[in-house]
Amino acid sequence: MSFPKTAGVVIIGGGVMGASVAYHLAQKGSKNVVLLERDAFFGMESTAKCAGGIRYHFETEINIRLSLLSLAMLDRFEEELGQPIDLRKCGYLFVLTQEKDVHEFRKQMELQKSLGVKTEWLAGDDVRERLPLMSFPDALGGLWGPDDGLADPNGVVQGYIRGAKRSGAVCLTDVEVKSIRLTKGRVEGVQTSAGDISCEAVVNAAGAWAAEIGRMAGIEIPVVPSRRQVLVTTPIPELPADFPFVADFSKSLYFHREGRGLLSGMSNPSQPPGFDQSIDEDWELTHLEAAADRMPLLENAGIANHWAGLYEITPDSHPILGGVEEVAGFFCIAGFSGHGFMHGPGAGLLLAEEIMDGRARTLDISCLHLNRFKRGRLFKEYAVI
Ligand SMILES: Cc1cc2nc3c(=O)[nH]c(=O)nc-3n(C[C@H](O)[C@H](O)[C@H](O)COP(=O)(O)OP(=O)(O)OC[C@H]3O[C@@H](n4cnc5c(N)ncnc54)[C@H](O)[C@@H]3O)c2cc1C
Repeated sequence: MSFPKTAGVVIIGGGVMGASVAYHLAQKGSKNVVLLERDAFFGMESTAKCAGGIRYHFETEINIRLSLLSLAMLDRFEEELGQPIDLRKCGYLFVLTQEKDVHEFRKQMELQKSLGVKTEWLAGDDVRERLPLMSFPDALGGLWGPDDGLADPNGVVQGYIRGAKRSGAVCLTDVEVKSIRLTKGRVEGVQTSAGDISCEAVVNAAGAWAAEIGRMAGIEIPVVPSRRQVLVTTPIPELPADFPFVADFSKSLYFHREGRGLLSGMSNPSQPPGFDQSIDEDWELTHLEAAADRMPLLENAGIANHWAGLYEITPDSHPILGGVEEVAGFFCIAGFSGHGFMHGPGAGLLLAEEIMDGRARTLDISCLHLNRFKRGRLFKEYAVI
């Protein structure tokens, strides 16, 4: 196939966000959708490196609504797209060891319930009883999400890319967008490593690189890259098949079953911003000690695999979703601040609606527009790890 010279919409980035937008645009009948990914495969950056956790538990109404929309789409995913995504509803338990977190999470729980989310408060002893393999002498309580769990990021990306192609979208790898052409404050086209494309709109779905894409159009996009590390252990025979996703909230430390072993991650609060994705061995040691403290069985397990990926962080931990007022035809779907995999399905649908119909209809996303930073309308999400 020859390289396209024109497009209606060019999507920059082929992670979960770009793939979801491409699918939803094409499926709604948008003609000439072109998705460009600079890597050799789709979804190899943050999306591939993520822990796969999906949950309803957030503090703000918009994040809870994004989960309600997206997790229902993941439930229907295999039927709709013919692609298995290894959906496992193993539950998700936030363990709280500080009074201030107990207070915040109890408050969140009321909002979650009022929006129809199934959620349960556990006392400290209930947490200890539910996690007999773990050591939480200091647990004051926990928030349990029985319908939360895990899904396979690669399956979601592949399903959306195939679905987008079936509906006529052109999705290309090995193509890097180098610059964006503007005329009189409007998007006119993109220059890429494979040639120029004229287009009416671009979608910035570049994840941790979203600020670079913004600069190409003279727009400041406050998305900062930050390294996060994950490790997977060798098999732990004692681990039950239904072991849940467990987050030790105050330590930003989490665990879930991965194959016959355990996957664990822990955010480094002193991590400087940057694109470095090498393993920080000192931090890995700190992480391992903290993890073994909570899960003593780790003393007998080896590390089977480990990697680092990038969070894409905004100042208020909410994504930037929607059209950008400074440049007509420039749309943004980025900055999901470490919980974007689970919101990719809904976010892609909502942005496709905004591009095609002028505004997102399924949910009001105006609070997520870029202009909130200029207007000082930031609102913080507490439940991020
Ligand atoms: C260790 C870790 C654990 C995580 N755990 C979870 C979790 O449990 N649950 C959850 O929901 N989320 C989790 N996340 C967050 C989640 O991975 C991200 O929020 C999500 O994947 C972001 O998707 P994206 O499509 O925006 O970004 P990406 O997947 O990074 O995709 C952006 C793409 O843009 C491409 N690109 C950039 N610049 C250009 C250019 N100039 N031209 C062409 N292409 C370009 C990149 O190559 C990349 O493929 C985790 C992240 C990490 C790092």
